[in-house]
Amino acid sequence: MGFFQSWRRRRTLARTKLDAELWRRVSGALPFLRGLSESEVARLRDLAILFLAEKEMHGAHGLELSDAARLSIAVQACLPILNLGIDWYEGWVGVIVYPGEFRVRKEEIDELGVVHTFDEGLSGEAWPGGPVVLSWEDADMAEAGYNVVIHEFAHKLHMLRGDDGGFPLPHSGMNASAWRDTLEIAYARFGAQVDAGEPTIIDDYAAAHPAEFFAVTSEVFFTDSAVLARDYPGLYAQLAQYYRQDPAGALPAPASERE
Ligand SMILES: [Zn+2]
Repeated sequence: MGFFQSWRRRRTLARTKLDAELWRRVSGALPFLRGLSESEVARLRDLAILFLAEKEMHGAHGLELSDAARLSIAVQACLPILNLGIDWYEGWVGVIVYPGEFRVRKEEIDELGVVHTFDEGLSGEAWPGGPVVLSWEDADMAEAGYNVVIHEFAHKLHMLRGDDGGFPLPHSGMNASAWRDTLEIAYARFGAQVDAGEPTIIDDYAAAHPAEFFAVTSEVFFTDSAVLARDYPGLYAQLAQYYRQDPAGALPAPASERE
């Protein structure tokens, strides 16, 4: 990060007074934040302030975004980068928020070469180098295992730093083959469960593509962490390394932090 940007961010944080009651109300409505320590909450609040200062959030289809809605989206977007930093969201500025599902025109070519055009209802979309599009109805749900904001911002992390067989590249310092192998095996196992019609803790949509598997399991990692740690311990451990967080408290602390 350049000197000017770092100075500007310190100035933004020094000058922004976030309403304490608004913060209490918004963060209190997101149950998956309850496991954060006091210092993590303070860091999340600072990231949300920077996010709101650096990104442009607009309501679409007549949606008037309240301060609470803006802050809620910023907080949910910043949870995945709590220990990565806001530079992970560089290269784009727009967040577009629809009142509910929005319709997108899609085209698909079938095996006979016929182009089918159809409208699809979406709760979120992330454009490479472009905006994140969200449905406020979905962003406001805060359900365990489902989080459209975390989903779309997981795609943003993936898009920024490159691809490894459909999965995001691991960070330097991570064991790249352990990352890739663990995700591939979990993805294959999950796809087989979905094909067999077995009930799963993860939304079926994760079977659509490795990139969707990463985005959907990221939602579960942050909002239903104990269940993911229990049913997919290897995958949980890899995501914990990727996000540098252990929301379920399932992993041994690094040697340096032990008593
Ligand atoms: Zn997706």
